Amino acid sequence: MNDTVKYFLPESEMPKNWYNIVADLPQPPPPVLHPGTGQPIGPDDLAPLFPMDLILQEVSAEREIEIPEPVREIYRQWRPSPLYRARRLEQVLDTPAKIYYKYEGVSPTGSHKPNTAVPQAFYNKEAGVKRIATETGAGQWGSSLAFAGSIFGIAIDVFMVRVSFNQKPYRKAMMESFGASCIASPSDTTQSGKAILAENPNSNGSLGIAISEAVEVAAQNDDIKYALGSVLNHVLMHQTIIGQEAIKQMEMAGDYPDVVVGCTGGGSNFAGIVFPFIGEMLRGGSKIRVVAVEPAACPTLTRGKYAYDFGDTAHLTPLVKMHTLGSTFVPPGFHAGGLRYHGMAPMISHLQELDLLEATAYHQNTCFESGVTFGRSEGILPAPEANHAVKGAIEEALRCKREGKSETILFNLCGHGHFDMQAYTDYFSGNLEDRNYDEQELAMALAGLPSVAA
Ligand SMILES: *Cc1c(COP(=O)(O)O)cnc(C)c1O
Repeated sequence: MNDTVKYFLPESEMPKNWYNIVADLPQPPPPVLHPGTGQPIGPDDLAPLFPMDLILQEVSAEREIEIPEPVREIYRQWRPSPLYRARRLEQVLDTPAKIYYKYEGVSPTGSHKPNTAVPQAFYNKEAGVKRIATETGAGQWGSSLAFAGSIFGIAIDVFMVRVSFNQKPYRKAMMESFGASCIASPSDTTQSGKAILAENPNSNGSLGIAISEAVEVAAQNDDIKYALGSVLNHVLMHQTIIGQEAIKQMEMAGDYPDVVVGCTGGGSNFAGIVFPFIGEMLRGGSKIRVVAVEPAACPTLTRGKYAYDFGDTAHLTPLVKMHTLGSTFVPPGFHAGGLRYHGMAPMISHLQELDLLEATAYHQNTCFESGVTFGRSEGILPAPEANHAVKGAIEEALRCKREGKSETILFNLCGHGHFDMQAYTDYFSGNLEDRNYDEQELAMALAGLPSVAA
C-alpha cells in the first residue's frame, strides 16, 4: 500500500498564472450595474476605489493572467502549500473514502487570504497608492492586508466587525504589529458608521457595515483606495493558485477527486480550490461534485435570493447579482466571523444557477465537533470557518461508508484556528449557541432589495 501522507510540490512547479473561470463558462455572469442608472458599469466607475490593473482583472475574459514576478517571490515564502492525505481521520471515521486536504494555514497570517492580499497590495503600489482602507470580519483579511501593506510600504486602515473585534483581540495586535490601524465597526469615524450607531448603539456590526465604512473613506479621499478580501472576481481569481497546485498534487498522489468541498463566506477560498477543477470539467475532464458549506445562521446559498443587491449596508457599492440575504441583514454573532457576509460572490452564485455546485448549511456546534475530530486525528486545529469545510468532508466520508463507496474527497483547510481559541473554549464549556437568524429580519432585508428592471 502506498501510505504517503504529504504531497509537496517543488517551488519550480508553483503556477505561473491565475485561472479565470469566465473563459470556460457556457454563459457569462450578469453585468454589474450602476445603482443610479441601472446600466452596466465600466472600468472608470471603479477607478476611485481600485487601481486599474485590478479593475481590468475584474472584467477580464482571458483564461490565464500572469502572476507578476514580485508577487511570486513573496508567494514562495509559503507556496506551494502542502496537500495531505488524512489517513488517521479516515481510520477514525472507518470510511472506505480517501480524504485529502489542501492546507492554507501555512501562510504568514494563517489562512488563504495572503494569496490575494499580496497581489492587491502590489498593484496598488505600482499605481502609486500610499494608503488603503478595508474591512475585516474575524480579522484574517485585515491581518493579511496589513502583512502585505508592510511589505510594499502601504498604510492600511482596517474596520473590524465589532463582535469579532471583541472576540478576537489578538488579531488587532497582529494588524498593529504589521503597522496597520484597526478600529471596531460600526465606528463614529464615518457617516455610515454613525448612522448605524444612531439606530443601534450596541450594534454587533456586520461585514456589510464595515464595507460601507471602508468604501466611504476611499470614495471621499483621492489618496486612499479600497480593497476587498473576498467576493470580487479578481479576488477569487487570485485564490485559484490553490486549486491549480492541488491538481498537480492529486496527480502526484495518483488520484483525482470525486468531490471537492470548501466553506463559503464571500466565496474566495472555495473558488480558489474548486474553480480549477470545474474548469477541467468544463473543458471535457472528469465529472466531479462540488460542495459549498455555509453556516446555518447566515445561509446565503441555501436560503438567499438570487437578485441584484448592494455589496454593503449603506448602499455605496454598485449592484451585483448574487445570492443574498439582503444588504441590511445582520447575522447573529457566531464564531466563524469570516462567514457572516450577507451575499455570495456573484461568480459562485452564477455557478450555482448553472448547476455546477451544491450547497449545504450547518450550525456551529456540529462544525466544531468535526473540527475537534479532525484536530485529534490530524494535529491541526482548524479556524471556525474551516470547520464548516471539515464538517462537509466528514459528511461525504460517512455517506461513502453507508454506500460502501471508496470515493476520493478533497477539501480546502483554509486556515488554522490559533487566534480563535476562545471559540474552542466556548465549545468545550457548552457556551457555543446554535442561533438561528431572525426570520422577520430576513424577510425585511429581502423586502428591501433594490428593484432592478429585468
Ligand atoms: C475569510 C475567511 C473565510 C471566508 O472567506 P471566503 O472568501 O469565503 O473564503 C473562510 N475561512 C477563513 C480561514 C478565512 O480567513
